[in-house]
Amino acid sequence: MYILDSKSLMEKAVAFHGHACPGVTLGVLVSKYILEHGNDFSVDEELVAVVENDNCSVDGIQALLGTTFGKGNLVFLDYGKNNYTFYNRTNEKAIKFSLKASSFGDRSLSREERIEKLLNSNPEDIFEIEIIEFNPPKMAEIHESILCDNCGDPTMSTKIREFNNKKFCIPCYKKVTRNDN
Ligand SMILES: [Zn+2]
Ligand SMILES: [Zn+2]
Repeated sequence: MYILDSKSLMEKAVAFHGHACPGVTLGVLVSKYILEHGNDFSVDEELVAVVENDNCSVDGIQALLGTTFGKGNLVFLDYGKNNYTFYNRTNEKAIKFSLKASSFGDRSLSREERIEKLLNSNPEDIFEIEIIEFNPPKMAEIHESILCDNCGDPTMSTKIREFNNKKFCIPCYKKVTRNDN
């Protein structure tokens, strides 16, 4: 196992996120652990992240692990929890981090103190970390585009809706079906 420098990871995450905050620091902490435990930055879809919130922490993860919205190897579950699962498609192992109740923000500290404290913490003290069984999502697929019969926008075929023998994109489908009622 090799040790990465928290400060430089934090700099990279902040450059992407826009500001330093306790949230992005949580993402740095989780990412550091993942990189130190047999995983590399995901150039393609080697790594999959499943996040249970859409707060600042997810930007730290996208910046440092390459599990991004655009590549489709970031799965968002809208649960409002600071839980994160990472699946490595090569060794087929999944690790889940669940924020411990005791880690939930110390209000007596300033924002800067909370960031500093988190950055110097052991991930094991902040999160419950466990190896879990995981069913990986399918790899991102490329679908042909079809032109919407109303607005003419090229639209991914799986997102086309049919109505009165015409093909519509979702916004146009909503418009024509509403007008028809
Ligand atoms: Zn933030
Ligand atoms: Zn349309």
